Amino acid sequence: MFKRMTTARVNDLHFKYDEQTGLKAIIAIHNTRLGPALGGCRIIEYQSTDQAIDDAIRLAKGMSYKAALANLPLGGGKAVILKPAKIHDRTLLFEAFGRFVNELGGRYITAMDAGTTTEDMDAAATQSHYVTCTSATGNPAPFTALGVFTGIKACLKLKGHSATNLQSVHVAIQGLGNVGYELARLLYETGAKLTVADIDKSKLARCVNEFNATAAPADAIHKVHCDIFSPCGLGSILTKTTIDELNCQIVAGSANNQLALPHCGEIIHQRNILYAPDYLINAGGLMFVALQHKGAKLDAIKKKIEEIGITLNTLLKRSLNQNMPSSEIADHMAEEVLYKSQQSNKVVFGAGQ
Ligand code: NAD
Repeated sequence: MFKRMTTARVNDLHFKYDEQTGLKAIIAIHNTRLGPALGGCRIIEYQSTDQAIDDAIRLAKGMSYKAALANLPLGGGKAVILKPAKIHDRTLLFEAFGRFVNELGGRYITAMDAGTTTEDMDAAATQSHYVTCTSATGNPAPFTALGVFTGIKACLKLKGHSATNLQSVHVAIQGLGNVGYELARLLYETGAKLTVADIDKSKLARCVNEFNATAAPADAIHKVHCDIFSPCGLGSILTKTTIDELNCQIVAGSANNQLALPHCGEIIHQRNILYAPDYLINAGGLMFVALQHKGAKLDAIKKKIEEIGITLNTLLKRSLNQNMPSSEIADHMAEEVLYKSQQSNKVVFGAGQ
């Protein structure tokens, strides 16, 4: 166990079994040097406890890197609930989870993730203050979309396009769910031409109708000749094969873990395609959740999300100047914040630098 924690530099692993509800949950806290660890709670059927532990560790590390690059005073953490074959009372289960979160005294703040809903967070919030994404706070997806939109404009600027008038810009969006739909709307309103794909035909039809978009097959959207390919559906979409087939200048989308393997970042760099690292460009939702939890106003949240474009510009310029994949530069920049700063709660780069 400690070997796994050492490799991922994860500081804590907490386990809970609640006899009354049958809750089996794990909370991984990667790092709290910059602040309390904020990250979602997923409820999934795992094949083994080991698999659940690995998932929690991997996701908690990702949250630390995301918060560091987002210039937020937060660490990274994640909770996983091992989904039982049958849930007898979901409210009681999430109340027990809320008590588990509360026992950590604020070192970990929870949020929605795969399989969890605002109702689940409402139940957890009856037991703890350290809960976000309740039905009172709302859906972070439009803010994630706004961050991706901001990042797309930063990429376009680097490629010499106007970032205010997108009329000559063609974007291919893969996945039209909560984030993809909102992104399509923002792009359409700025004049961009859209090609879209989703395995869900009703979501596809909605975007075609509302945004005058062209439909493409889900398995071929990445091959569309366009300026920007925007993965907003699945992770691991960028493999050696799909990267070879890309017909765009920029890849910028919300999906988590877009690179199937770390070396895919090098392959995309070799193809001279600008790749916006996923955990930077999709941080708008985290910014919304974190700032709203602190009581920030909408204008302040939107202003914060603008920083994604500034950080992305810095990062992509470093990538070009140092001839290094943007994915590696992102990791280095996040690690600079996480490990090299001498003071806690101090972020060493960010907006305007
Ligand atoms: P979602 O489930 O609402 O939407 C995903 C969409 O992708 C669905 O419409 C689904 O039908 C579609 N899809 C799945 N497989 C596909 C395929 N092979 N081809 C085309 N479409 C496919 O999820 P979401 O909240 O919109 O999130 C989208 C991505 O962004 C996810 O990877 C998520 O982890 C990531 N993300 C989301 C947020 C957020 O605020 N919701 C924040 C950060 C990252």
